[in-house]
Amino acid sequence: MTAECRACKAGLGHCHGTLIHHPHRRDECTEPDCATPDTAHALHIDCGAVGCACASADAVSAHRVG
Ligand SMILES: [Zn+2]
Ligand SMILES: [Zn+2]
Ligand SMILES: [Zn+2]
Repeated sequence: MTAECRACKAGLGHCHGTLIHHPHRRDECTEPDCATPDTAHALHIDCGAVGCACASADAVSAHRVG
């Protein structure tokens, strides 16, 4: 994809990858060398959406605590 987003046109530092949120680990980006702050990502998903085990573990403990 070569389409430019609003941040591209403005010359802002940002990332076109998807930031994956882990409840018990650092957030990670789908771009391997990403050094972009998490707030500068257009796409955010929970790690459970990509089959990460830590999300389901968190859901169980949250249910027990909640
Ligand atoms: Zn862009
Ligand atoms: Zn990124
Ligand atoms: Zn995870």
